[in-house]
Amino acid sequence: MLLLDSIFSIYSIKFLENFAYFKNDTVFLNFQDSTFFFKDKKFKFSYKLKNNKIYVDGQSISLIIYRLTAIPIFWDYKENRLIRANETINKFQLIEEDDSCILIFSFSKNLKEQAWLEDNALIVHIIEGFYPKFNYISGEGKIIDSIRILHTKEGAFFKIFLTNKYGSYKKLKEGDVLKFTIYSYANFGYIIIDPGHGGKDPGAIGKWGIKEKDITLSVSKKIANILRKEYGFKVVLTRETDTFVSLKERAEIANTLKAKLFVSIHCNYAKEDNASGPETFFLSVARTNEERAVEALENSVIKYELEEADEIKYIVSDILQNAYLKESQRLAFFIHSRINKNRNDRGVKQAGFYVLRGVYAPSVLVELGFISNEKEAKLLSTETYQEELARKIAEGIRDYINWHIRR
Ligand SMILES: [Zn+2]
Repeated sequence: MLLLDSIFSIYSIKFLENFAYFKNDTVFLNFQDSTFFFKDKKFKFSYKLKNNKIYVDGQSISLIIYRLTAIPIFWDYKENRLIRANETINKFQLIEEDDSCILIFSFSKNLKEQAWLEDNALIVHIIEGFYPKFNYISGEGKIIDSIRILHTKEGAFFKIFLTNKYGSYKKLKEGDVLKFTIYSYANFGYIIIDPGHGGKDPGAIGKWGIKEKDITLSVSKKIANILRKEYGFKVVLTRETDTFVSLKERAEIANTLKAKLFVSIHCNYAKEDNASGPETFFLSVARTNEERAVEALENSVIKYELEEADEIKYIVSDILQNAYLKESQRLAFFIHSRINKNRNDRGVKQAGFYVLRGVYAPSVLVELGFISNEKEAKLLSTETYQEELARKIAEGIRDYINWHIRR
């Protein structure tokens, strides 16, 4: 905070009652509602009264002084004092589109910059960069929430606050122009959510006749909804209703769209009543009896398919799927570490699921829990638990994608 009198004496601003006038012009500061009018434009500023003196926020007053006098003056937010410097950033432009946005900086000389990510913000430090025209820019909320421009004697810091829809960025420098393209998750490509079973294939039937196909559809829709609305991803479900879709068709949907990842949703079943907890599988060779049991259960759907499974085709695609083995394993770990919190950890597992074999993308199969377990079956049929699981799976998918595109 700055003492107002000292600035007013330097820049010949008169202070009368609640208003401060500059050179008898129509420009004034109104302390009653903390506004500053300049050429019919309204600016907000903050101030404090202390010992009968008015203190104003240096960040906003530096901008006001610039508007009044055209003197490029900056508030050093680290040392809390006004500094004077030559304007070196001539132009700053923000162009927001639906799936990307562009930031353009034009310099009066060749300036160096550094950029890094901090929580939900992209920080661009322009060394010796001074930009007096704005200290706050509001985004449209598609990818950019807002931009704060702060200065120190080392230059300008553009703090670009990003929304949840932000995916990655690219930097390009051509002479005195610096350009950032910020991409939304919509650019990532298709995510396929595959609700297990459906139609004539009920999947496992648990306590009180709870059908696997109903829970998988309900949870899958919730996952898709979160991925689309909160992060802006493009998501396709292999089925939207209670219909039968063959394993081959499910893989074809993914391959036709050149899907970036595939997540199949299922519920587990065990003869022992006490088995509980979610499991996440990636496609590989089952190693344990437990893994083989789940593999056999999920692959038994093949009995509903009209055509016999084409074994040769599966062997061919196995080789292709191998290329995604490491990525699939990582995707499984990202999802599992979200859904497993505070639960009996059954871990990430591997098995040879037919549904994953034909997909040419990293793919996993999530077992939400055991519908053979009385307590878990009850939980799995509630809206709140389904929503909680869906959110965690969506977060795990986003974690994997962040890791994938930013590494
Ligand atoms: Zn299943």
